[in-house]
Amino acid sequence: MSMEPRESIAFRFERRKADAVADPTALTGTMSGRLDTFGKFEKTVRAGLELVAEIRKIRAQNPHGFSQGEAKDLWSQLLTLEPIMPHVRLLVSHNFFLWFRDSWELSLSILQQFVLPTPLRRKIEQTSKYWATKQRPKTKRDKSNTMEDRYAFVFELYLEQLKTLREQQAAFTEALAKGKPMSQADEAKVKAGPFTLVNTGGFNEDAMNAAATVVEKAGRILQQKGFGKICYGDVNITKQIGRGKVLAFYLKDSDEFFVRAGVRLNVDTLHTVLHEFGHRMHRKFLQGNDALIKRLYGKYKTKAMFRLEEGPIDESKLPKVGEEVPYKGDILVVTEIDYLKRKIRMKSKANPDSRATYSTGFNDFNIVFKGETEKAVKPTGFITQYAGKSPEEMFAEMFAYYCTDELSAAQLEDFAPLIA
Ligand SMILES: [Zn+2]
Repeated sequence: MSMEPRESIAFRFERRKADAVADPTALTGTMSGRLDTFGKFEKTVRAGLELVAEIRKIRAQNPHGFSQGEAKDLWSQLLTLEPIMPHVRLLVSHNFFLWFRDSWELSLSILQQFVLPTPLRRKIEQTSKYWATKQRPKTKRDKSNTMEDRYAFVFELYLEQLKTLREQQAAFTEALAKGKPMSQADEAKVKAGPFTLVNTGGFNEDAMNAAATVVEKAGRILQQKGFGKICYGDVNITKQIGRGKVLAFYLKDSDEFFVRAGVRLNVDTLHTVLHEFGHRMHRKFLQGNDALIKRLYGKYKTKAMFRLEEGPIDESKLPKVGEEVPYKGDILVVTEIDYLKRKIRMKSKANPDSRATYSTGFNDFNIVFKGETEKAVKPTGFITQYAGKSPEEMFAEMFAYYCTDELSAAQLEDFAPLIA
């Protein structure tokens, strides 16, 4: 369904991956789940802090030390918390940073994708700043001497972190509820020929204009080729496409069209966008031709279809007349090298008078009898390697090359019935 760009483009975009943003709704859900896990000791920790307070009261009343007996019950209650302490310590010293550092990315993506009321916007900005500057703390030396102080140190840190996380989570949730997606803001829509570009990520004018140039050019070509009926609707300009390397994308079920922000007009981007429009053409208008498309795909897939390599013939790779090769329990003798048709003709050695003759292309001869790999020859059928993926992709690839007048006469002959 989606089209990977060619190598060079993929590489160029790979380098920009760093500024790719997340899906705020999904990430908020993830964070909420982690917060639930983080918060599950709250009740126990609060009860523990009450015990600590009681013990401290007794200690304050006995500045010169108190007997175990005076706080015995409280001590033993506090000790029952010992099994959970390793978990709580791990949460505050390790998991707090490990699990919630994504809040930074989440705040950034919310700021990029939503128009927010100012106070709410500030809250999200603060959250972003909080995590941007947050370093994993050096393990704070717990200088507490008494057992209750050591417990209190961990409990208080836990509650402080829990409070911070809850405030941030509330801000995220509020932002998703009250924020206006930039894609719905009027200023986020730009006309590009027959299409409306939707700015889904708060991209700047440059990025939008660049995308508009590509989409407009594609639209013009499509109209010239008689495909005006697929030039309609919104084209979403986005950073969130597939695994980050994809330039354009078409969702067949919702008929939605996506183009990656920052694309520049060149052969690859134009081809990719036309390819995706090929999918729309197929889905919306050519479902009736599915059988034809599948049949052509089958024809191209046939292994027998090897192209005779063009250019000078490599004499050293040709057999000599009279050479013998084993074939299905028989021996074939080379009778003729047909340079004109680039064929090698053979006869059975066992039945020299039989009328049956054998012939193969130059390349096929080496594959069948000399063990050369098929890689040495290109299949004639598919216009690109990607087209071999499925009948749908073959159609979209041929569609794109049809639009840019790059089909050979034979391919044009094959393709024309598919769009009729
Ligand atoms: Zn595709």
